[in-house]
Amino acid sequence: MKMVLSFWLLLNFIALSTGQTSADPQILAEVNKIKAVDNHTHVQKVVAANERDEEFDALPCDPLEASDVPSMARPENPKFLQAWEKLYAYKYNDRDPSHVRELLEAKRQVAQQQGDKFPTWVLDQLNIDYMLANRVDKTVFVRSDARARYERVVDVVDNLRAAGVDNIGLLTEQIQDKNTPGNLSQ
Ligand SMILES: [Zn+2]
Repeated sequence: MKMVLSFWLLLNFIALSTGQTSADPQILAEVNKIKAVDNHTHVQKVVAANERDEEFDALPCDPLEASDVPSMARPENPKFLQAWEKLYAYKYNDRDPSHVRELLEAKRQVAQQQGDKFPTWVLDQLNIDYMLANRVDKTVFVRSDARARYERVVDVVDNLRAAGVDNIGLLTEQIQDKNTPGNLSQ
């Protein structure tokens, strides 16, 4: 009986080990090369010491009743520790206040090194190509050069309007002066 049981266990083990339990590494490597587009964020802008950013949401949250933090945003979510490790080489498995102080110092140093490029640095770490931020002021400038097809520009403007952008600035190329040297029509 014991032998039958171990044989049965062995069969199960073989069945489990031949079943695919993880992604194909080659496919995964290709997928990981694809950068993401984060199309809905309320990210705050980088502010100076005395500055406050209140333009990150058209709906002011202050008058809302207090409610529980969504599960992803709760401090005990283990994803925070993983993110801290990846971004700032956090080496602890806890949130001890002294460890968190070290983390904040590491973050401050990176932010200082990167300067104005700090937001771009964060996006690069997250493998995000573009991040669309919900802002109160929805002004978009569209720049197109002489080669841009008119219908494409109209498409872009239509899509921006559909997305709720009311202020659209069209930046066009300066029409070249006829007397400018190098103008082939001369
Ligand atoms: Zn939103």
